[in-house]
Amino acid sequence: MFDKILIANRGEIALRVQRACREMGIATVAIHSTADEDAMHVRLADESVCIGPPRATESYLNVPSILAACEITGAEAVHPGYGFLSENASFAEILREHDITFIGPTPEHIQLMGDKIAAKQTVSDLGIPVVPGSEGAITDDATAERVANEIGYPVLIKAASGGGGRGMQVVRHKNELSTALSTARAEAGAAFGDDVVYMEKFLDKPRHIEIQIVADGKGGAVHLGERDCSLQRRHQKVWEEALSPALNQEQRDRVGGIVANAMADFKYLGVGTIEFLYENGEFFFIEMNTRLQVEHPVTEMITGLDLVQEQIRIADGATLNYTQDDISLQGHAIECRINAENPNTFAPSPGRIEAYHPPGGLGVRIDSGVYTGYRIPPNYDSLIGKLIVFGKHRNECLMRLKRSLDEFVIEGIETTIPLFQRLLGEPDIMNGDYDIHWLEEFLSES
Ligand code: ADP
Repeated sequence: MFDKILIANRGEIALRVQRACREMGIATVAIHSTADEDAMHVRLADESVCIGPPRATESYLNVPSILAACEITGAEAVHPGYGFLSENASFAEILREHDITFIGPTPEHIQLMGDKIAAKQTVSDLGIPVVPGSEGAITDDATAERVANEIGYPVLIKAASGGGGRGMQVVRHKNELSTALSTARAEAGAAFGDDVVYMEKFLDKPRHIEIQIVADGKGGAVHLGERDCSLQRRHQKVWEEALSPALNQEQRDRVGGIVANAMADFKYLGVGTIEFLYENGEFFFIEMNTRLQVEHPVTEMITGLDLVQEQIRIADGATLNYTQDDISLQGHAIECRINAENPNTFAPSPGRIEAYHPPGGLGVRIDSGVYTGYRIPPNYDSLIGKLIVFGKHRNECLMRLKRSLDEFVIEGIETTIPLFQRLLGEPDIMNGDYDIHWLEEFLSES
C-alpha cells in the first residue's frame, strides 16, 4: 500500500480524500494556490506545497508544479478528486511516465470516454442502450438535416468534448438547424478548444439516472445502484438522491447488471459513473464519468462502502473482494449542494463566513472545508459544502433533511440553503415526482 498520497484538488473533496487516507494510515500531501493558504485541506494535511497563484491554470491545473510537489514530498500516488485534472488523460499518462500512480482509470479509458462520440460507440458495442442520434460528428447542414429528420425534432446538438452542461443547443424546427449548428460549433471551439459536435434526440421529460460502478481492471465489476440527479439548473446538478424514487428493483437489477457486465468486459479500473436519461421505462446512455462524482456520498450512505478507499485499494492493484451478491442497498440518502450564491439569482457570493454552525445528529453528514472566519476566495467554483442525510426510507430522509437545513447557520455570505427549504415545501419534491426540467420551470415561475 502507498505510504503517501498527494491530493491534487482543493475544498471539500480534498478533505474528503484526506479523511479516507488517514483512516488507511496513509500520509497526505495537500497542494494549494496562494488564495488557499488558510484552507482547511491545507491545515489538516500532513504536508502542504504551494503550487502557484490563484488562477487555476497556474496552480491546480499546473502539471509541472504538481509533479515537482510529488518529487519534493516523495508522494507515490496522486488522487485528482473531481474537476481540475481528474479527467485529463495526458496528466494520467505523465504520472505513469514518472512512476507515480494516478488514482483513477487508465489514460486510454479516460481519453476514450472523454470523447463523447467515441464513448457512445464504445458503450453501445458493450451492450448499453444509447440516445438515438448521429453515428459520429455532424459537420454540415445536409447531414444535420438528414439525421434530424430520421430521429425527429426536437434534437440536441452537443459538443464531443463537452462537460459541465455547457455547449448544448436544442433545435425544435428545421429552420433553426443551420444557425444552431454554427453556434454550437463556435461555442464548443471557444469553450473546449474542439469544435466537433454531434446530434441526439432531445428527450422531453426524462429523469437523469446514473449508475455507480466499481471495477478492478481485471474483469471484476459491481454496480452500487443508481442516483437520481434530475434536479438541475443549467444542466448542473443541485440535489441528488439514492435510490431513485422512479425505479423499481427489477429495473435497477436489469440496468445495473448490463452496466456491470459491460464494465467487466471493458476491464475498467476504478470507480466510474454511467449516466442515463430515463423516460417511459427506457434508459438512454448520455456519458460516462471516469472519476469520483460530487454526489458519491449518497451511494456511500446506502451501501456502507467508502468509495475513495475503494479507489485507493484498486489503484494499488487489489481485486474486488466482494461480488454483486454482497452489495446490499439500504435506506435512502439525499445530498444538497450548498453553494455560496444568492438563492434567487445564483450570483456568486464569496467573502468571509462570520458564523458557521452545521447540523448534526443521526444520519447527517457534512462534507465541507469551511469554518467561522474562513474567507471564500472568488477564484473557484461556488460549492462550499454538501449536506447529506440518510433515513430508513425516503420520508424519514426528507424530514431529516428539513430539520438539518433549519439548523444550518452560515452567516456573512449568501448560500443556496433557502432554495432547498423552499423545495421541501413542494408536493412534487415530496412525492419524488420531477424530471430534468422541473427545477428550471419552478425557478422561472417563482
Ligand atoms: P455534460 O458532460 O456537459 O454534463 P451530459 O451529456 O452529461 O453533458 O448532459 C448534461 C445534462 O443535459 C443531462 O443531465 C440532461 O439534463 C441534459 N441532456 C443531455 N442530453 C440530453 C438529451 N438528449 N435530451 C434531453 N436532455 C439532455
